[in-house]
Formats: sequence, C-alpha cells, structure tokens
Amino acid sequence: MKHGSVLLAALATLAACTPTQQPGAPAPAPRPGAAPAAAPATPTSTPTPGAPGGPGGPAGQGGGQGGQPGGGPGGGGPGGGGQPTQPRPYRSVITERAVTQNGLLKVHRVGEQLFFEIPARVLNKEMLLISRNVESTLQSPSGFFGGGSRNIVQWERQGNRVVLRAKDFDLMADSTSAIWNVVKGFRKGAVLASYNVAAYGPDSAAVVDVSDLFLSNIPELGPIAGIQRNKSWVEQTWAFDDNVDVEVTQSGAGAAAAPPGAPAGFGGGAQRSQTVRVHFSMLKLPDQPMMPRWEDERVGFISSSWYDMSRPVHRAEAMRFIHRFKLVKKDPNAAVSDPVEPIIYWIDPATPDWLKPWIVSGVNKWQEAFRKAGFSNAIFGRVAPTPAEDPNFSMYDARRSVIYWNPSTVANATGGQIVDPRSGQILKGEVNMYHNIMELQKNWYFIQVSPLDARAQRLPLPDSLMGRLVEYVVTHEIGHSIGFPHNMKSSAQYPVDSIRSRTFLERMHGHVATLMDYSRFNYVAQPEDSIPPHLLIPQVGPYDEFAVHWGYAPIPSARTPDEEKPTLDQWAREQDRFPWLRFSTSDAEGDPEDQTEAVGDADAVRATTLGMKNLERVVGSLIRVAEKPGENYDELEMLYGEAVSQWGRYMGHVGSIIGGAYTQERYGTGPRFRPLERARQQEAVRYLNQTAFQVPTMFLDPAILRRIENAGVVERVRQRQTAVVNSLLSQARLNRLVEFEALAANPREAYTLSDLMTDLRTGIYSELAAPTVRVNAYRRNLQRAFLAAADARLNPPAAAAAPAGLPAGFPGAAPANPAFSDVRAAMRATLQDIDAAAAAALPKAGDGMTRIHLRDLRTEIRRILDDED
Ligand SMILES: [Zn+2]
Repeated sequence: MKHGSVLLAALATLAACTPTQQPGAPAPAPRPGAAPAAAPATPTSTPTPGAPGGPGGPAGQGGGQGGQPGGGPGGGGPGGGGQPTQPRPYRSVITERAVTQNGLLKVHRVGEQLFFEIPARVLNKEMLLISRNVESTLQSPSGFFGGGSRNIVQWERQGNRVVLRAKDFDLMADSTSAIWNVVKGFRKGAVLASYNVAAYGPDSAAVVDVSDLFLSNIPELGPIAGIQRNKSWVEQTWAFDDNVDVEVTQSGAGAAAAPPGAPAGFGGGAQRSQTVRVHFSMLKLPDQPMMPRWEDERVGFISSSWYDMSRPVHRAEAMRFIHRFKLVKKDPNAAVSDPVEPIIYWIDPATPDWLKPWIVSGVNKWQEAFRKAGFSNAIFGRVAPTPAEDPNFSMYDARRSVIYWNPSTVANATGGQIVDPRSGQILKGEVNMYHNIMELQKNWYFIQVSPLDARAQRLPLPDSLMGRLVEYVVTHEIGHSIGFPHNMKSSAQYPVDSIRSRTFLERMHGHVATLMDYSRFNYVAQPEDSIPPHLLIPQVGPYDEFAVHWGYAPIPSARTPDEEKPTLDQWAREQDRFPWLRFSTSDAEGDPEDQTEAVGDADAVRATTLGMKNLERVVGSLIRVAEKPGENYDELEMLYGEAVSQWGRYMGHVGSIIGGAYTQERYGTGPRFRPLERARQQEAVRYLNQTAFQVPTMFLDPAILRRIENAGVVERVRQRQTAVVNSLLSQARLNRLVEFEALAANPREAYTLSDLMTDLRTGIYSELAAPTVRVNAYRRNLQRAFLAAADARLNPPAAAAAPAGLPAGFPGAAPANPAFSDVRAAMRATLQDIDAAAAAALPKAGDGMTRIHLRDLRTEIRRILDDED
C-alpha cells in the first residue's frame, strides 16, 4: 500500500500548487489618484491621558489556545507597566551600554531590552509587518513550509504612549467625500500593542521598549501560543533605510491557532514545548501607492478588492485590482527599456548546488515575455548569499523576492506574493520548492512521455533532465508569484494534430499556450512524430506573453485606473481572434476545455486515444525499468499505481465532454456558453463504452501484479470504473443535459438525458443481449456500480440534501428531491429496462456466477425502486 499513500499525497497536494495567497492576507486598499488615504489626517497628539488601556503590553491577548495566559515573566516588561509612566531622560534609558543601529528608525539594544526610537516621519505611516519561521519545531518534515503572519501596521502616538495598529483595507472612499469620515474609522483597525514612551530622543522621537512586540502573545503576529519569556529572546536586529528586521527565538506551549485557510498541518503540535526562531520584517510602504490596474475576468490575474463607497454608481461597488510588481521604464519614451528596478528572485542558498543554475534559468525564462511588454532585463534569478557571505542579507527580508528550498517530503511547490493592499503592488514574491518535487516530476515525465525520450527510458533520470523538469516547475511557480493563477483552458486551444507537429511546437513554444495550465508533458505525440524531447515540456507561451503584456505594459496616457479601461478592453479582445489567448471562464463548470492534467483536450477522445498508446508502451516497460537486483519492488509498485491513475485521468477528460458546454469569457460582446454538439457527446460515450468500461488488459499483466501484490487488481479496476460511472451520473451533469435539451433551438440536435441513459445501458450491460450470456468479474462490478450510482440519484442520502455551506437555492446545488427533475423518470425507466434485459438473459446464462449476478441485479433494482419515497 505504500504506493497508494505516496500517490494520493502527490495528487492531492498537486491541486494545492495554487498561488499561495497567504492566510489572513490583508485585502485591498486606497484610492488611485486621490490623495493617498494612506496618510490619514494626523493630529498625532491630543493625548487621552490615563486611558485605561490596561497593561501596556499585549500580554494576555494570546492566552487562548492551550498556552499559558499572559506573557510569562516579561508580561509587564519595562515598556508595558501597569499605568503610564513618565518619560525619563534619554540617557537613562538609552545608556552607554546601548548598541544602536540607524535606519528607518533607530534600533537600540540595551542588555536584554530592545528599543525602537520612532521619529515623527515614521508615525502614521503604513508599514508591512511580516513574520517568517526560520527554524521551527512546529514544522513537520512531511508538511508544507511557509506560513507566517502579515499585517499592515501603523505606529501612532497618543500622548506619552505609542500604539501599533493593524490596519484594515476592506472599505474605501474618496478622501474628499462625505462618507470618508466614517470609512476611515473602519480602516483604522485593531490596536495590537501599546507602549509608554520611555524617553524622547533629541528630535522628539519616541523611544519605546518593543521586546514585548516580538516576544509576547499577539495572535496576529507569532506562531507560538503561550510564549514563555524566560525561554525566549531577541537574536538579532537589522536597520535599513526602508525596513527594520528583528529575529527572535520564541518558546511556548503550543501552536498559535492556524489562520483561516492555512494548509493542513499548519502548526500542529498543540500540547508540547515548542520553539521557533522567527524573523520579523517591518517595511515602510511607498509614500505614494502605485496606481492599481483593475482586474478583468478575461485575463487571469491574482487580485484583491475593496468596497469603494464613493464610486459614481448606485451601489457599494467591489473594486478588484491585480497583483503585479511595479515596473517603471528608465527611459519612458523607449519602446523597450530596462526598468528602474528589476524583479529579482533570490534563490535559497540551501538549494542543492547542482540545481541552482536551473532555478536561475527558471526565473529568467520570463524575460522574453516582459521584453514584449516593453521591459528589457526585467526579471532575474540570482543565488542569494549565505549568512556567512553577507550577514545583512536575509531571505525573510520583506523587500526581497525569494525562492525557498524546503527540506520536506511534500512533492510539490507553491508560488505566492505579498502585496501593498493599497495598490496590488507585489512587495515580496515567494516561491516554495519542496525537495520531493523531484519525485513528482520523475513520475509524471516517465508515465507520460518516456516512450518519446530515450533519456527517460531508464531510472533514475539523468541530472540534466531532472534539472530541466525542476526548471519548468520554477517557471510555473514564478508565474504565480508575479501574478498569474492557473489557466486550465489553455491546453484545449490547439488542434490535436498540430501538437504532434515539430514545426508547430517550435513556432508556438510547445503544446499549450501557457505553462500556468496543468498540462504537463506532451503525451499526445507519438514516437513516429520524432518530436525533440525539449519540445515535450511546456514553456512560457503566447498566452503568458499576452497576460504579461496586459498586466504590466504601461499605458502612459492614462492617469487613473478608469482611464486605462478602454485600452485594457481592446487588449483583452484579442481573444476573439486568437483562441489561445483565452483564460478560464468564471462559472465554467462543465467546460470540457477547462481540465487539469490534460494535453490536447480540444479533442479529448483523440488525445486520450493517443495518450493511451503511450501509456501502453510505458506499462510494457515497467519491469525492465523498475526491476533492479538488490532493490525491493517499491518503485515498480509506485509506477504501476501512477500508470493506473493516469488512465483514470484520461477517462475523466473524455467524460467531461458529456453534458459539457464551450465557454468564452466576454465583456458585453455576446453569449459566453454553448453546449457541445450532439455528435461529440455521442462519440465520447462510445469511447468510454469501448475503453473505460472494458477490462483494461494492460493493467492485468501477471508479470507485474505477481511482483507487487497478492491480490488487489479486481478492486483497483472496480474503483477506477466506478469513479467514471459516478462522474457521468453526477446530478449536475444530468441536470445540464436536461436543461440543454430544454433550451435547444432544435431539440433533435441536443444530446439528451435519455440518449445518455440508453447509450450507457446498452454499453455497460452489452453482454445481456448475447446468445449465451457471460459477465466476467470486472464487468459484474461495473454493472453493480451503475446500479449504485442510480440508487444515489433516486435515493439520495439525507446528508446530500443540503450540501454544506451552500445557501438555500444556490444555483449549483443539486435538487435534494429527485422528484423535482427529469432525472428520476430517466433513472427509473433505465432500471426497468435493465431489469427486463436481466430477466431475458437469465435463461441464457453461460455460467453459475453470471446467473447469480443477474438475479442479484434484479433484486437490487427492486430494492432501489422500492426505497423511493
Ligand atoms: Zn500552480
């Protein structure tokens, strides 16, 4: 069973190769053009003397989860005394022993104490404050890394007190509008911490003891709950012009509560001692936010939004804006210019040395797309210095975009970004590579295209090939990190025959228009096509160039985001002419072009037919490749399991044609949905009857099976075929068939629910019409699986009646009661037909097991129909 868990883990997490929007990401921000709401009116003083703020420090806030309440011994530390104390003379606080660093603000360390000296120019300025775990006992070697906190904070003075707020950006309004006065109140956010001013510096800068900030239980900040101060300390501090970084060791009793949306396994160990070395980085946001670019659903960008209460529309309008780096041309008049500041991704020095050049080039692959958007030398990968080489360099610095290399068994990678919520400007791009990504790449490449690449016909793969595969993953994750979500539609935009042509692949840079699709390696190509192996791997393609241009190319004539819209609309409409520039349609459920793990899904029947030829070649090579004297059969077992999974994916691609509709996102230029032609749906069902529902002989090779298991293949086939049946008979698909027929201009052109039921019944129960009826074990299972699926439709379990989390009447929700739809009638009729066929077949049964099976079918059908309400 080992392979099972590895396999499932790989697949499950694969889906997670999403852009990692950090949990708790601050949402949106201010208003373009208008005076940055960033700087709210700043009457800094008007102290509220004696405000009862309780203990100055945030002590006690985080006691919630299983930790010790309060901040331990330090809870009432110097800065956070019970009541406001009077500031003391500067030299009695920042004594001669102080070690001082100058930067955005002054950082003083006096013995165990950490002081910030905050000048007036830093007060009331929005800052990004992130934390990242450098070392952590909360981290499992088999878990995802990353996480950490991020907040937009602001230091404010209240008399002889300095408070730190975590600001909120969900609401927006023009700062000159009447409603701004109340909107700005909601944007202020929670007070995270409050400190008495210990002293004033020469220029009236406020000196506060901030040890508490980094060593106590502020739930928004730290990974540890119940921090114990006697086991926690400040490690190191840095002060730069725009940011101040503090690294501390925190110890406590358990993990802080996982932020909403955190990956499984986040934190984890609740009730034991935990120690984390945490790097905090506090970065001043730009004085003037970058001008946002409004999101457009026709072009995929990761985005944020705010509600703008002062738009000239009659509602509260959600304004969505894309995440992107700020690129400014050095020479604004040049068609192509270097940017003032290029995008640099720093590569973790912990990366295996042999892979570093591949990771550098994985980043650089995006350069050409940026050049076409007007920026030369816009994006680089660069290996980061080790701490020994440059003690002032940290991967966790909020200014630096980075690619971490994580010592984890997770077979995956993620890409994300931290943005300025006022503008969508990416401040720090982050890619997480997990060491075991190599295992995943090896499996995919081997299973999909090894018959096309001699280098992959033995294992292990040569380093040069693995390097190229890791490079491909890096380019994909960088894509996320610079703003792009997946675009699963892309792989369906080229004709299947074209992606078998070398000249086509060379011209279009591969078989898929973007490497942000989950279209892995070109399994459609055949050995006789003689495709050079480098063309089997997705590259930055025409869609990527289109999307980079759409999001990053300057529109110098526009002074506001609204003024950019006509140009952006014009660019987006290139999709009408060039289908390969299209992006996944929102609400695209049922679009057979919008599939994961597919190559050539413009025609999934044909693509799958070709893919299956390669898969047969792969399975035929398994023993030769994976059997090695002196080694166990784990590899053979795992690769066999991967091959079976690949088969399941292929059948899923074909299945999605049935009840499918083509989609194209449009803005005001016509219909977005069109049901598939009847002939294509018929063809897909025919293919499934001939392939998915037959015994997959390639997987029944005793030479393989007798090396990996005593038994299990019948069950394995049953599970895979059942999955196909269940998918075909899903309520949503059946509902679509009913609706497409109802809406069809000419109902005879629609593939109907009745067609599907007839085609499936005659395919799945085809033996029953034979002169002598014999149904083998695999097909008996299949026939039972069909009845079980019908049962689920006719007698839905109570729990299925109300899908969790869906509001009543939610359009996607399946009707709870089968009596509400044609599906009941069609299912009943089909079961009655099967019953009649089974009755007629009984006297013709060619063997005992078939006879028992036919009787069982009849009994089961009676039960299903009787169970109905
Ligand atoms: Zn991805």
